[in-house]
Amino acid sequence: MSALTIRLLGTSAARPVPRWGCVCPQCSDARMNPRGVRSRSSILVNGRVLVDPGPDVYRQLAALPPGELAAIRDIVVTHPHASHYLGLDDLAQLRHLSPLDQIPVWAQFDSWTLILVTFNYLVAHELDPEPETERPFVRRDMVLGEPFELGDGLTLTPFDTFHTSTFTTAGLVIEQNDLRVVYAPDFYDSAFFGLMEPDLLILGGTFLDAGQAMHAPDLDEGHGRHLPIVEGIRFAQTIRARRTLLTHIGHVQCLPDELRRYFPDDTFDVAYDGQVIEFPS
Ligand SMILES: [Zn+2]
Ligand SMILES: [Zn+2]
Ligand SMILES: [Zn+2]
Repeated sequence: MSALTIRLLGTSAARPVPRWGCVCPQCSDARMNPRGVRSRSSILVNGRVLVDPGPDVYRQLAALPPGELAAIRDIVVTHPHASHYLGLDDLAQLRHLSPLDQIPVWAQFDSWTLILVTFNYLVAHELDPEPETERPFVRRDMVLGEPFELGDGLTLTPFDTFHTSTFTTAGLVIEQNDLRVVYAPDFYDSAFFGLMEPDLLILGGTFLDAGQAMHAPDLDEGHGRHLPIVEGIRFAQTIRARRTLLTHIGHVQCLPDELRRYFPDDTFDVAYDGQVIEFPS
């Protein structure tokens, strides 16, 4: 039996790979090699906690047997960029499988403002004197730096990744037994002490270097800031991550083997869709 399991449902940045009409090495490879295909970044922790239901979540979860779908107990939204929460409407279907009357959705206060503009009809408010019990989700607020427990000793602590200026983006410290995983798909910087020496760092790899970040054709204010991979490697070393996996892979236009040339050692690797990381108990 494993103590902590992380399933990477998707590993792309805001747009999937391959990109429409693109014949760069990355996109061409993805048309030949299933390992190169990337859907929007999302993880499932211990089969129970779904982080970031993006636009691909229905298809991502369709690969799981119904019993595993019913086991999903909590949903976490790190920030309200479309590629991290637009799948909530599809996830409402979980209600037909779940033993829960309503599934808790965790997000920060300023994320809720934007989520509810789109999905108000799906979410009951915890403090509502007459809760809308027909709605599939119930609102839970998570607060930066404050751990919250999701059963069986699994604790999540959100921290600021300085990815956005118009709202706050959370990374997550995921802890169980003495294991610590840091999940930060949309990451620019951090001042949070609780990140040190994680057993696993799952870090965003949207751009290879500063040049690529500058020239990304679809980059604008709305997409937020991303620490390039070459600087992310240094960040991983600074916090002394025991192992680092890159996710949220953008249009880097090269194959994982080329990215690996930048890695200082084999504690670094590039994630792929469907990858499962199991920590033995
Ligand atoms: Zn391409
Ligand atoms: Zn984002
Ligand atoms: Zn993102």
